Amino acid sequence: MPELPEVQTVVDSLNPILPGKRMTDIQLFRRDIVTPPDVDLVAKLKNRVVVSVERRAKRIIVLLDSNERFYIHLGMSGRLMIEQADAPVLKHTHLIVILDDGAQLRFRDPRRFGGIWWLGKEMGDEQLGPEPLQVSSKQLAKRLGATKRVIKSALLDQKLIAGLGNIYVDESLFQAGIHPQTRADKLSGSQIKALTRAIKQILRRALHHKGSTLRDFVDANGSAGDYRKKHRVYDREDEPCVTCKTPIKRIVITGRSTHFCSNCQPRKGARRR
Ligand SMILES: [Zn+2]
Repeated sequence: MPELPEVQTVVDSLNPILPGKRMTDIQLFRRDIVTPPDVDLVAKLKNRVVVSVERRAKRIIVLLDSNERFYIHLGMSGRLMIEQADAPVLKHTHLIVILDDGAQLRFRDPRRFGGIWWLGKEMGDEQLGPEPLQVSSKQLAKRLGATKRVIKSALLDQKLIAGLGNIYVDESLFQAGIHPQTRADKLSGSQIKALTRAIKQILRRALHHKGSTLRDFVDANGSAGDYRKKHRVYDREDEPCVTCKTPIKRIVITGRSTHFCSNCQPRKGARRR
């Protein structure tokens, strides 16, 4: 599933193209990808000019010249592509926005966990936690101290911190040396500092590599990210830990596959060397 670095990469690739363009025609092939269901998305978008494209959490937020907004969530398999009019329309393309220069913005999502949310004049982000690249360890300590859930589940909760998913949580916990089943409210001050630092480092590194190539993730220009080669625990079950050679373990925490090194991320106490 695309996480913060992948979504930011899509936003960065749309930004030189979309702002200033008028949407001259809209083709919506599946109404059920639009929330709320009663909004007439075609009428709302037709002849509007895109003012800006921004990311908040895992959302791609588009501001229009009507001062209204909508966002696209890529879900598991969603893709936004800029295509020329004569490019073949692939199966599972649910929306085509025709731009005034003839190019088309296409939204394709075979598994349909993604979609389009109409916000109107609202920001619609009251439910979202702080951005992980901006959060301070003090803020994070306060939020983690208020939950008894294990740290892995807490960091996946978009209301607690917004934008992280399975890959970058596993990678951040490894870098911080924290066992994924540690209770969030039991983390020490130094562990939270290490975790805050790790989250930012991991995300910045992933952004630099334009995200991870998972399934068919590519940005709007069709280029694939290469951060996957840099994963140190995620999807590396039974492979040796890059630090200590212990085989990486995989467990399931609240239904999510979790990868960690039992030596570098001990449940309690100091790291064994
Ligand atoms: Zn290790």
